Amino acid sequence: MIANLWTEAEALAMQQAAGGDPRARELALRVLTSRLIGRDPDLVMHGGGNTSLKSTATDVFGEEVEVLHIKGSGWDLEVIEAAGLPAVRLAPLMRLRALPALSDEAMVNVQRLNLLDPSAPNPSVETLLHAWIPHRYVDHTHATAFLVLANLPEVADATRELFGDRLTLVPYVMPGFALAKAAADAFECNPEAEGLLLVNHGHFAWGPDAKASYDRIIDHTNLVESWLADRRPAPLRPAAALPAAESAPVLAGLRGALASVLPEGAALPVLDLRAGAGERAFVARPDLEDLATRGVATPDHVIRTKGWPLVLRAGAQTPEGMRAAVAAFAADYRRYFDSHAPLAAGPRTMLSPMPGLVWLEGAGIVGVGATAAAARIAADIGGQSARVRADGEAVGGFHPIGPADLFDMEYWSLEQAKLGKGKPPALQGRVVLVTGGAGAIGLATARAFAAQGATLFLVDRPGEALDAALAALGRDHGGHGCDITGPGAAAAAVAACVARFGGLDILVSNAGAAMTGDVATLPEQVLRDSFELNFFAHFAFAQAAAATFRTQSGARGVRGAEPGQILFNVSKQAVNPGKGFAAYGLPKATTFFLLRQLALELGGEGVRVNGINADRIRSGLLTPGMIAARSSARGVDEGTYMAGNLLHAEVEARHVADAFVMLARAERTTGHVMTVDGGNIEAALR
Ligand SMILES: [Zn+2]
Repeated sequence: MIANLWTEAEALAMQQAAGGDPRARELALRVLTSRLIGRDPDLVMHGGGNTSLKSTATDVFGEEVEVLHIKGSGWDLEVIEAAGLPAVRLAPLMRLRALPALSDEAMVNVQRLNLLDPSAPNPSVETLLHAWIPHRYVDHTHATAFLVLANLPEVADATRELFGDRLTLVPYVMPGFALAKAAADAFECNPEAEGLLLVNHGHFAWGPDAKASYDRIIDHTNLVESWLADRRPAPLRPAAALPAAESAPVLAGLRGALASVLPEGAALPVLDLRAGAGERAFVARPDLEDLATRGVATPDHVIRTKGWPLVLRAGAQTPEGMRAAVAAFAADYRRYFDSHAPLAAGPRTMLSPMPGLVWLEGAGIVGVGATAAAARIAADIGGQSARVRADGEAVGGFHPIGPADLFDMEYWSLEQAKLGKGKPPALQGRVVLVTGGAGAIGLATARAFAAQGATLFLVDRPGEALDAALAALGRDHGGHGCDITGPGAAAAAVAACVARFGGLDILVSNAGAAMTGDVATLPEQVLRDSFELNFFAHFAFAQAAAATFRTQSGARGVRGAEPGQILFNVSKQAVNPGKGFAAYGLPKATTFFLLRQLALELGGEGVRVNGINADRIRSGLLTPGMIAARSSARGVDEGTYMAGNLLHAEVEARHVADAFVMLARAERTTGHVMTVDGGNIEAALR
């Protein structure tokens, strides 16, 4: 059931914050209930739904004009502000009702033209529908329960049984001028109604004040929820969730298979597997193939997920099986485009034929996207839409819009106009794993890659530092806490990365620590421990990464995007021994050799292997205490010590981070070590 989140305390606080102007106070309540709706993913998700308020404003002449505050496109209800509900002059919107038809472009234009603030965002494409419903507050959702009801074959009977005359049915029309007209006509046939049910689309309700309209949204939705609960069969018992070690190879293979239908050189997609009990029970259904062909629960989902998912039964989850299934999906998608594009009003550009959702039997529902955020949104919608399908089938059937209507929505002229605008960042879609990711150099490196659009996965010891680093990066990145020298730790960390994002493109093997002592008296165990961290961990991560690269690139070979890269944080110590640093330098010199050996072995597969030799960076290896001791031992101040190089300039973690990114982008460079030390002739490589 949906909770009613209205509290008088929050309403009062919002009004007080708005000041003394009654119009601002009324708008504050509009903002509040919009947010309350946005807080529940079973009401709206990811920019879906919209809300409005009819009010007045004072124009530049001091005259009072009637306006409609309507959600601006690009705003999400969950976090909306007053600026996200721009005011549009109501009178011209009302006049439009007399027109027989209006193109989407002309409608967007006239709505923009009548904004009181010309810098405001575009008013929603459902603006006219809101304008023509003569109630003060109007709310529109794509609630999960209503999507079940709206896609039933007997939607009219079920709606009447539940609501009597309180909800008016509007047959499916694509959002825009024609839908607004159909909704206004339907409203006028039953002006006492409390709301609308838009067939195959969603729910509207209204009221004289913010709370009344919001209460109706909740009450109506819960009426449908309880009706469904009475009819919902006992849930299937899902299989146990797959451990990362088992799901990772399937996901990495799937990622490569998906990429096989992308243009040459394109980045591989990011995946987001949802493996909750509901998703796992859903992908165990015997009727997945049939359900997959039916369409989407509400039209705008097609833009995020495509019109149908790729179904992968357990038997098809081999590299060859997945490649064949993705190729068949792409062929179907081209046929769908070729058969509907000629009927469109103008030329249409075909979108990527790659699936947006995968139903992976035994594992769950996978969202697919060019970025981690796009994959997350597709997975969220995929989860909701699975619940809608399961409930719909239990109470009469899931019968959404068909392919022709799907095409009109997916290839809407307003969406096509967005294509090709803005170049994606250079490393968009690349999954980058950084060991020691919570340390000074690791986190700086993670930030530098994230700034280029990459998706980061940090590996470090569990604890506050890792938690803080992950919080700093934000929700579309991930991490894994472990001691990287433990047995199997590297393979488990790489598997966790693949389970989270579907694969791995760049390993930054960075973690290290300096152990000290002279060789002549060095306890053997100190050297062995140092080898565990400063050599064997690099070796184990490189092995695990190379295995993942091979699983991923099986479908593309070397003709597509780079199959993977490995970057090592080596050390000046690998080539230029420092007194007392034998236990650090010996394994680092071995890691340097590892880098060159891997470059030699993996080059034929297109995998590049490079590294950085950095020196004298403030980090866990060079603490404030060590800096103080060394500078005083040399009789110089700390600044002079830190800038003790040819450039007389301190080298910071961000300089190392930038060098890692440069190597990652240097497409024809492998087996190379870049020096980031401000200049040190003794440590120069050649
Ligand atoms: Zn809608």
